[in-house]
Parts: sequence; structure tokens; C-alpha cells
Amino acid sequence: MSLTVVGSIAFDAVRTPWGERERMLGGSAVHFSLAASFFTDVRVVGPVGDDFGESELAVLHARGVDTEDIERIAGGRTFFWRGHYEFDLNTAHTDETQLNVFGDFAPKLSPASRDCDVLFLANIQPDLQREVRAQCAGARFVAMDSMNLWIETARDSLIATIEGVHALMLNDAELRMLTGEPNLVRAAREVMSWGPSLVVAKQGEYGAALFHGDEFFALPAFPLEDVVDPTGAGDSFAGGFVGYLAAHPDDELDAPLLRRAMAYGTALASFNVSEFGTERVARLTGEEIRDRVGELQRITTFADAPLALRG
Ligand code: AMP
Repeated sequence: MSLTVVGSIAFDAVRTPWGERERMLGGSAVHFSLAASFFTDVRVVGPVGDDFGESELAVLHARGVDTEDIERIAGGRTFFWRGHYEFDLNTAHTDETQLNVFGDFAPKLSPASRDCDVLFLANIQPDLQREVRAQCAGARFVAMDSMNLWIETARDSLIATIEGVHALMLNDAELRMLTGEPNLVRAAREVMSWGPSLVVAKQGEYGAALFHGDEFFALPAFPLEDVVDPTGAGDSFAGGFVGYLAAHPDDELDAPLLRRAMAYGTALASFNVSEFGTERVARLTGEEIRDRVGELQRITTFADAPLALRG
């Protein structure tokens, strides 16, 4: 039972209405790994530059994440993303993306990473996602994320990657953009016709929706009074969702299991957004996650009672 993730390992500069950070640990693979580390063994794959220090690695090591396949490129610089959020925290505005060491990265996975039971292709150039997917041919379950940049600049490659996975997790706006279909149900159905059996539409503060064959499930985001930085919410959600599935290797991927995975994803995302970057998840405990899932269950369940309706 192990989980491998490839994606960006980054320095982020982020401004929100509640503050800013000039340079903090980030990246899709980092946020995912930290969240998934509560459920199973995680191996993270990707390059960093000389500027990536021991203190950044220590955040991953403190959560037991295996960093053997983080390749340090001598003379290179780590992926850098600068973004900001307006009052509407649902939309990240990208101000700058420096691929740096990802520019000519050719992933070479160790035997242990290749042998994974579950694989997550976090957001990064779709050709790279496919190279890693090919090296993990035996994975039981493969899920992926992407973003508007790759839909706009590498659409054909992205679709080829989607064709080879079991699950696509994407923002609702990106799902619409990818399929050219304004209706989310139809957009998810279109993606499922390409190969994946499961689609998760992430909807920011409105939560997430799951499409699985003819099954549907949705959860709101956990209601928080203080949302400070949404960066990494999608990856933390994915880490909770995919991590939960990875922790249940013998269970069928049926509706009850997938619904529980949605709850754990929602819980992890809610902690992520309450502070900047990885700050909150880095000191999270399993007990806090359990409590939040319990509270989420309480606030999303209701019992119907008989009522004579008029008409
Ligand atoms: P999200 O979970 O969608 O908020 O993802 C946030 C993370 O995505 C940030 O930590 C960024 O470093 C990373 N990111 C931003 N743009 C890209 C990109 N083009 N490719 C890969 N990762 C990115």
C-alpha cells in the first residue's frame, strides 16, 4: 500500500486580502503529499533547484513523506509561482509562473516509486504526467489534476493524459473550459467518455461534486469564518481524497467509500485554507481530522419527516 505523486515542488509568492507571503513552500505535489501523509506512505517525485533548502525538505520529512525521488538539479532554480486573490477567494490570479527546473525535467522513478499501488499526477505539464504514468503501469488507481494554463497551452497532451487515468479532479470552471460544455453534469459525462470512471469537480468555497458512472454526490466546503489563503486547497482536497482511497486497498471503489473519501478531502482542504501555504497542515493531527469529518457529517445529514404536501 503506497502512494506516489508527481507535481510541482515550488516556492510561492501569494497575496490575499488578509496578508501576503513573498516566498513560501508550495507546489501541487507538496500540498498533496502533506495531506495524503495522514493516510498512507507517500513518495514524492519532482525536481528542485539549489535554492531548495533543508528546511523545506524538513516539512515533508516531519510528515514522513519519502523524498528520495526529489531530484536536485545543480545550478537550477526551483519552480516559482506568484499569484493573488481578490475578495472572491474562489479564483486564483496567476501573476507569474517560472517552470525553471521543470523546463527539461525527465522523471526517472526509483523502483519503489514505480511500484506504487496508487498514483496521483498533481498539476504539472501534462507530458510529464504521462511519462510518470507510463512508469507506474501496475498502479491500481491513478488520479490527476490540471489547470487552465495547460488547457490553454497543451490541450491535446492533456486529453491524452486524461485518457490514461481512472479519475480526473478539476475546478468546475476548468472542467467547463476543457470540454466546452457549460453544464457541469454534461462536462463530467464528456470526460468519462474519454476514459476516467470518476470525475471530481472542485468548487472552491461551495465544496466539491463527485460523478461516478450514474452516481452523484456533493459536499459543501466546511464553513469557516476565517479563510486566509486558498492556495493548495485543491491539492489538499486531492491528498485527503486519494489518500483515503489508498488506505483502503481491498475495498471496492463504490459509492460509500468514495463519499467518505470526499469527506476526508473536504476536511483536509478546510485546514489548508485557514493559514498561509502549508502552515496549518504541517502541524495538523489525525484527531483534528477525525473531529472535522464528524462535524461535517453532522452538518450535512438530515432526516426527512412525513408531511402532507398540498397539490
Ligand atoms: P491549488 O491547489 O490549485 O491552489 O494549487 C496551488 C499550487 O499550485 C501552488 O502551490 C503552486 O505552486 C502550484 N502551481 C501554480 N501554477 C502551477 C503550474 N502551472 N503547474 C504546476 N503547479 C502550479
